[in-house]
Amino acid sequence: MSSWWQFGEGSGQFGTDLALYQIKCAFCNEAGNFELTHRETKQKPNSRKVLNFDTYKCGNCANFVMIFWSPSEDRVSGHGLHDYIATPWPKGIRDGEDYWPTAARRHWKQAHSNLNNSNYDAAALMARSALQVITRDKGATGNTLYEEIEILATSGVLSPTIKDWSHEVRELGNPVAHANPDDDETSAEDAEDIVKFLDFLLKYLYDLPKQINDYRSRRNPQEDEE
Ligand SMILES: [Zn+2]
Repeated sequence: MSSWWQFGEGSGQFGTDLALYQIKCAFCNEAGNFELTHRETKQKPNSRKVLNFDTYKCGNCANFVMIFWSPSEDRVSGHGLHDYIATPWPKGIRDGEDYWPTAARRHWKQAHSNLNNSNYDAAALMARSALQVITRDKGATGNTLYEEIEILATSGVLSPTIKDWSHEVRELGNPVAHANPDDDETSAEDAEDIVKFLDFLLKYLYDLPKQINDYRSRRNPQEDEE
């Protein structure tokens, strides 16, 4: 496609109406629940080709998506096509890696999902739970998360910097884990920090060792893992 005037010509979706039913809200992931709030159109000179610049409001979460779309110029009924680009697009929540501890994977996923939906207390709580699962999976057997982080640092699983960082995250998650009636809501920044730390910790403790193992078995296929 060398020009936007060819958008929706020859390839795209069936039909000349926008396939709203298959478009998902970038914020809440609900499909097709949109109300048109604004439309600008531009017609190609001496042609029936039209480009649409739409703004839709999500009926579920009240956020907005912008959709650029165009039906094919040759709008023979039932044979036409159209194509669209929506922005922003959903930040897909991945499933995590199957070599992570199962509960950590579940809590990690929920932490991200809550963060996406601006549920900051829940995001912080889930991230803290994942941290707890990880410390136990790595063999720490303390009575508190504080102790477990210390044990892992002593045994060398966590470097001094990551130990300090783990404690910061533990403290951020503490108020929601041990809630009091007049606790403040977790801020967006704190929730983002704690979830980001969890991403990093999973990478450091699980992804990186696996990548190194994979690399080694590619280099020395006959040798078993250490
Ligand atoms: Zn929505």
